Amino acid sequence: MAARKRTTVKIGISGLGERKEIAPGVFINPSYRGCTPGFIRTDEGVILVDTPLIPQQAKDWRAQIEEECPDLPFLYLFNTDHHRGHALGNQYFMPCKVIAHERAYKEMSGYTENFKERVYNSFKREPEIQAQLTNIIIIPPHITFTDQAKLLYGGREVHLIFVGGHTPATSIAWLPKEKICFVGDIVWVDQHPYMAQANTVEWLRALERIRELGAEILVPGHGDICTPDATYRVAEYIQYMRKRVREFYLQGKTKNETKSGLVAEMLAWFPVPPERKAKIESQIKSGLNRVYREIQQEEEEKAQARQAAMASSGALETA
Ligand SMILES: [Zn+2]
Repeated sequence: MAARKRTTVKIGISGLGERKEIAPGVFINPSYRGCTPGFIRTDEGVILVDTPLIPQQAKDWRAQIEEECPDLPFLYLFNTDHHRGHALGNQYFMPCKVIAHERAYKEMSGYTENFKERVYNSFKREPEIQAQLTNIIIIPPHITFTDQAKLLYGGREVHLIFVGGHTPATSIAWLPKEKICFVGDIVWVDQHPYMAQANTVEWLRALERIRELGAEILVPGHGDICTPDATYRVAEYIQYMRKRVREFYLQGKTKNETKSGLVAEMLAWFPVPPERKAKIESQIKSGLNRVYREIQQEEEEKAQARQAAMASSGALETA
């Protein structure tokens, strides 16, 4: 009985949830697990943003889109990145052309049987969900872009813009007329950002770029809509992590010492329910791992530049 209750809570924040119209014809559902998917109705068809990971939720989302747009085809499905939470549900929205950054194509075409097995095994404590994951079909993008692409249909403009940062594939969908931006996993509200594939310099730039768009509403990769103000907290978090890792590095601490030394400090930034603590801690550690390597590289480059400067000034003196 207790186990069943926990499963129900874990499937979504509030079960399957109802679609929310955040502007005329623009919908999201923040209740699913894995991501907050969205769709945009145009006169010619529907443009989808990301797909739920859990099959039951993906099927529910498809039914909700078809209920809202009964006679319209699915034109494009845009994945903000290649992570399972955003792209594993693609199979439930066919036929539709999937579009994403070229790096997402590279990553997703590398999803082998082994990857599917890992996804399956990651739900071993939730047999109801696991039972749904026996027929995973990976649908990598049919169309890719490197810097930008625009979808111009039925009076809508959707700009797909590569920003990187969270992953080397992370891209956002900007609707300039509606002033709405689907920002993927660049923005997290009251949650620890997932940084296992991060490039933090790029990430900070992406946050700035999102602020410069002039958006009124942001749709983050997880949870409900927010305003561009939410970008500041994410930037602070990343900057704080970079600062602390640099201090540890300059004190001569190893990567492992830095990770174990900073994990509790980082964990305190956002509330984490006890049952998710171990998972979040390991996510924070993989973020610290990335940042340590970045800082190490930055400091090594600085040292080399200093040496080069000294060598050339020494050469001047002797000349
Ligand atoms: Zn992601």
